[in-house]
Amino acid sequence: MRFIPLFSGSSGNSSYIEAGGTRLLVDAGLAGRMITDALDEVDVRAETLSGILVTHDHIDHTKGVGVLSRKYDLPVYATAGTFRAMAPIVRELAFPNVRLIRPGEDFYIGQINVIPFATPHDAAEPCGFCFVEGGKKLCYMTDIGCFRESMFDAAAGSDLMFIESNHDIEMLKHGPYPYPLKQRILSEHGHLSNAKCGEALVRLYETGVRFAVLAHLSRENNTEELAFSTVLSALEEAGIDDMQLVVAKRDRTTAIFEI
Ligand SMILES: [Zn+2]
Ligand SMILES: [Zn+2]
Repeated sequence: MRFIPLFSGSSGNSSYIEAGGTRLLVDAGLAGRMITDALDEVDVRAETLSGILVTHDHIDHTKGVGVLSRKYDLPVYATAGTFRAMAPIVRELAFPNVRLIRPGEDFYIGQINVIPFATPHDAAEPCGFCFVEGGKKLCYMTDIGCFRESMFDAAAGSDLMFIESNHDIEMLKHGPYPYPLKQRILSEHGHLSNAKCGEALVRLYETGVRFAVLAHLSRENNTEELAFSTVLSALEEAGIDDMQLVVAKRDRTTAIFEI
């Protein structure tokens, strides 16, 4: 399984996943051209994709969905709530390319078993995804206000965790955002802090998780160094010294991960 985070953060999200000959995008939250240029750089032609999976309706996850689907005739997989809420951004899709999914109901795209699971976030009907193929499992969870038991169950044993590490709580509290926005981000339907991400990874370690990509960092309320050091300290305090951590890049391809 190959996984390439192309963009990750509040200014736009899109990742590429390939397994068993099937190629997918998870989220397309930038102009279509930005995403196809990023794919070109890793030698992937957009016309060879099998579809776009959408976590939720926010524009940093949906901006390029409509354009890419129409231009390359790509199926779009999302929950009913996400389809409804993102319609003004995505606009009309060819009917066969509207693929309704439900959290908890897995399905296949080519050889990839896709397992959507509900996430707590202030969007219409958000979800995360697990991808399983050839005995490997990747879990994609960003835009989560908290880490619930059901998400722990979904993520358990993943070979790669792509998990939100959105903000440093002190930076957010003392930062420039208006109070209501701070409250929204800190709420159980907002975004996961570095500290909470660390706690989640300590728990997931017990299930065999050894590799995590910290994702969706806030530009205003986090730095790559803070996200990395906060999560690392949480792991060290729990006596864990063999978890590999990488911080996803906001505006460019992070790396090509093979699991
Ligand atoms: Zn987002
Ligand atoms: Zn969001």
